[in-house]
Amino acid sequence: MPEFRLGLEFANALDKSDDLATFRDRFHIPKDKNGQELIYLCGNSLGLQPKITKSYVNQELEDWANLGVEGHLHARNPWLPYHEYLCGQMAKIVGAKPIEVVVMNTLTANLHFMMVSFYKPTDKRYKILIENDAFPSDKYAVESQLRHHGYDDKEGLLIWKPRPGEELLRYEDLEELMDKHGDEIALVMIGGVNYYTGQYFDLKRIAELAQSKGCMVGFDCAHGAGNVALNLHDSGADFAVWCSYKYLNSGPGSLAGCFVHERHAHSPDLNRFTGWWSHNKATRFNMRDEFDVIPGAEGWQLSNPPILSMAAIRASIDVFDEVGMPRLIKKSKQLTSYMEFLVKQLGEDKVRIITPENQQERGCQLSVQVINGNKEIYDQLTESGVICDWREPDVIRCAPVPLYNNYTEVYRMVEKLKVVLNG
Ligand SMILES: *Cc1c(COP(=O)(O)O)cnc(C)c1O
Repeated sequence: MPEFRLGLEFANALDKSDDLATFRDRFHIPKDKNGQELIYLCGNSLGLQPKITKSYVNQELEDWANLGVEGHLHARNPWLPYHEYLCGQMAKIVGAKPIEVVVMNTLTANLHFMMVSFYKPTDKRYKILIENDAFPSDKYAVESQLRHHGYDDKEGLLIWKPRPGEELLRYEDLEELMDKHGDEIALVMIGGVNYYTGQYFDLKRIAELAQSKGCMVGFDCAHGAGNVALNLHDSGADFAVWCSYKYLNSGPGSLAGCFVHERHAHSPDLNRFTGWWSHNKATRFNMRDEFDVIPGAEGWQLSNPPILSMAAIRASIDVFDEVGMPRLIKKSKQLTSYMEFLVKQLGEDKVRIITPENQQERGCQLSVQVINGNKEIYDQLTESGVICDWREPDVIRCAPVPLYNNYTEVYRMVEKLKVVLNG
């Protein structure tokens, strides 16, 4: 990591020595009314469109037009096994074995389906532990699971909270919670990278702690997949879920990922909701056989999937496969540290970064707290051509994404922020 210096020239120099710089050109960069490229730092919310996506989707549209139902077997990429084209590459991105990963449904739906299997409350052990400021959808999902099983959603929900005056979560506090309540907790469900603070948790440490108390453990990795090295298999988590439209650039509302640890791969008796796509592929179309579940994560699928959405996912993960997570993470650390360096120049009386400083505890996102600020700052920033997002009460989330963002635009963004703050 170089010593960072101020000034546009230094930003340009970093771009010149960036061996991933050409990947930016593989994406459509949104533009303003005058045709100027916007500074897009919102890849943690909706990733940009790879230019190859259109041809991948068009191919399936053509095959459907030309073949109709025959496309299931005779499309250039036959639709019947289409999800299988994704498992291996997706598994690589999240650090899992192919048998542990499937792409299906949407994120919150997958979270529910995983809880059908891995939230198994008993009279003594029925609580669910989540992190403070969990993504609202996750919180609503676990609350509704509690109610579904007849528990009070306030009493049944435990929250790992930061200490007063702090934003980040401490493992000592989780340990204390688990010591006190471990035997009442059925499931620990944590957002692998917290969407608000950008804190990236030690998944293995949390999983080991939860499992040592006899709890099941799952992670929502929506802000982790394609951003950090999740190593899901080694974490030992029972399950994980993530979406493909944030860092994975697969299009709005695209299908989601799901991980079930290998130790559950051959557990046909594990309770689950099923459909014909969870049934043994060899006999699926006999249509009358006794249910016979596919081993591994595929055994949690229900329906034949939307091929158009999967085509977009294929396009995107082909780009990931070409770059590889290690190179992406290397650039990510440098790009984000560069942004951190520049933001810090603005002064602690103006802005404060709440995301951890330690690179092992964050991905590319920085959550910048505006001191005594309000949404006007953010609105003016947007007006000046920067796309990031605002989270009440006072945080601007910025995600310089290593695949398509560059050093120069990070420099320009911080210059614009400076103007707005001094305005
Ligand atoms: C983005 C995100 C969601 C969104 O859920 P959908 O089901 O895809 O609408 C849920 N949880 C987390 C942690 C997220 O980051």
